[in-house]
Amino acid sequence: MKKTQHPAACSAVALAVIVLGAQFAAAQQDFDAVEMKVHPVIGQVHYIEGMGGNIGLFVGDDGVFLIDDQYAPLTDKIVAAVRTVSDKPIRFLVNTHMHPDHTGGNENFGKMGTLIFGHDNVRSQMEAAGYKEETPLVTYGEDMSFHINGETVYAFKTPNAHTNNDSYIFFKGSNAVHTGDIYRTTSYPYIDTANGGSFVGAIKALDLLVEISNADTKIIPGHGVISNVGEVRAWRDMLLVIRDRVQSSIDAGQTLEQIQAAGLTKEYDERWDSGRRIGSAAAMLEAAHKDLAP
Ligand SMILES: [Zn+2]
Repeated sequence: MKKTQHPAACSAVALAVIVLGAQFAAAQQDFDAVEMKVHPVIGQVHYIEGMGGNIGLFVGDDGVFLIDDQYAPLTDKIVAAVRTVSDKPIRFLVNTHMHPDHTGGNENFGKMGTLIFGHDNVRSQMEAAGYKEETPLVTYGEDMSFHINGETVYAFKTPNAHTNNDSYIFFKGSNAVHTGDIYRTTSYPYIDTANGGSFVGAIKALDLLVEISNADTKIIPGHGVISNVGEVRAWRDMLLVIRDRVQSSIDAGQTLEQIQAAGLTKEYDERWDSGRRIGSAAAMLEAAHKDLAP
């Protein structure tokens, strides 16, 4: 009996190794296929589109300043993209928040001598969530100002929104802001409630973004394309409508399942429902319900 079991167990292990290997190869191939595109924003501010969150890129005589760093296997491509606009050292990098598509390159950039910053909660929440990505070395409680390349770059914590550790990074002189994942032009907001995100907080954070912006402000979303305060306001207003509808449904005694089935976001879904977990109407309604239900 034992003799027949043993080879079977072996082949099961072998099969698992093959399957895992194939998955790894597929993931690696995805990374290999990624192309980095540097998009100009204004002046010396750019963003890099690749796979994962948009990377803010600010260059000048003092050095290169980055916002977020996508996934670890992409670091070489990111550096090559940076080198198309600057040959200066990559000195500082700020994480807008904890997620692996924004922090995956931390270890690689750290080894290159880049100093990595983030809000206190980026570090503590990455640790609490058991992330394998490297945490920022320097953290701030409320805000931090970088004086580099003739610019003041102001990083500051927002109300808990996408997570409990979101910052906006505001280029005061250039009048541009990187919003992290509080704002995206690709889908509904994703509220990571397991990591302290809040739907109502996201509305407050968007109010704040509207407040610090004017008609000329270039807004770099966490995912998607360059935007402006008019578009942010419209997106925020949509969330206000959705919030009120969810509240009315809760007041009328509906359950989360009923709210998700009621078509509350119908007129917005074609444009904004991602159809997958991140950025779906269903996940957003669940987050809104969590905040608003008694
Ligand atoms: Zn995120």
